[in-house]
Amino acid sequence: MPAKAGKLSLFIFIDALGWEIMRDRPFLNDVLTVKRPLDTVFGYSSSCDPTILTGKMPQVHGHFSFFLYDPPRSPFGHVRWLRHLPKSVTSRGRVRGWISRAVEKTLDYTGYFQLYNMPFEHLPLFDYSEKRDLYKPGGINGGQETVFDELIARNIPFHATNWRLPEPMRLEAFEAELPKREMRMAYLFLSDIDGVLHRVGTQHAEVDEKLAWYERRLTETLNHAYDHYDEIDLCVFSDHGMTDTVEDCDLMSRIDALGLTFGEDYAAVYDSTMARFWFLRDSARDKIERALAQETRGRILTPDQLEAYGCNFPGQRYGELYFLLDPGVLLCPSFMSSRTLAGMHGFDPHHKDSIATFMSNRSFEAMPARLDDLRGLMEESLALNPSEPVSAGA
Ligand SMILES: [Zn+2]
Repeated sequence: MPAKAGKLSLFIFIDALGWEIMRDRPFLNDVLTVKRPLDTVFGYSSSCDPTILTGKMPQVHGHFSFFLYDPPRSPFGHVRWLRHLPKSVTSRGRVRGWISRAVEKTLDYTGYFQLYNMPFEHLPLFDYSEKRDLYKPGGINGGQETVFDELIARNIPFHATNWRLPEPMRLEAFEAELPKREMRMAYLFLSDIDGVLHRVGTQHAEVDEKLAWYERRLTETLNHAYDHYDEIDLCVFSDHGMTDTVEDCDLMSRIDALGLTFGEDYAAVYDSTMARFWFLRDSARDKIERALAQETRGRILTPDQLEAYGCNFPGQRYGELYFLLDPGVLLCPSFMSSRTLAGMHGFDPHHKDSIATFMSNRSFEAMPARLDDLRGLMEESLALNPSEPVSAGA
């Protein structure tokens, strides 16, 4: 048997594994000696994940929520006919899933694509922000390089999860590459627990069962890895937490009741925790702001708050006004879902349930405080010097 390879930097990203969920639950305690909260960024995985990969805040990398008002750039003009489908058909989750896949085929996108509960009649007003696979070169809207781009440029062999595979196969695919002993870095993405937490909330026995599965399965993965590597830097982290839903808020009806015309007076995207508005006629702003003032379970975000969140986008690309609901108040129905959920993320990023988790088997010189610090940590683990020109490392 040839000698083992040297060191492997193993970064395991588990979606929605919040600090409040993990702080009192044992999880790989004999291995993960460092456990601490990790601040998240405002938005959903669509803004968090590009921040992890680039080390930049959303307003820099340009990713936030999937849908934004931009009729000239809308890719959905050709599916205008979908609006003629009866609601009895299109409100069914499975049917919408089929339609999403069919529309995706016509678009030639490589990123994660889902139409969610978007009203088909408004689709031609909206652009979609994640057209390209974030894990592939050129995936970032702002043009920044991801850690994968850096590894490619420096000729460092790595494994990144194919997120289109089912979760167990993602681990198997990584393990199958271990015997080659070539990779120096692996970035695994596990996401099924996010769906569990949305469905049952953070306090359900299913959460413990799922975590037990991860613990068991990751122990096996780690044992495989130690068969082939002398040393492993193991970091397990999440992008955000999960907040248990306390009530639903039908903000859409409140705005619909104003008698304004969508697409002429204003446009809006109703995400699961916030509504974002664009004002197409000046008179609409005043009416909408007054209606929002009546809703006591949320607040309009000031430009200063958006700036502090790193979400003050150039040209107000993701909305001229953001109305964010209080933690635990689900915007429902929304353009994301017509049904309520037991858990949601995307509330105030500083709220305790929003905080993400960082765990590792060693401490680092620069311990990460927020998602945008993880990129530097990957570089530290790989002993990369970002200021060193790529040609010197290659
Ligand atoms: Zn989620």
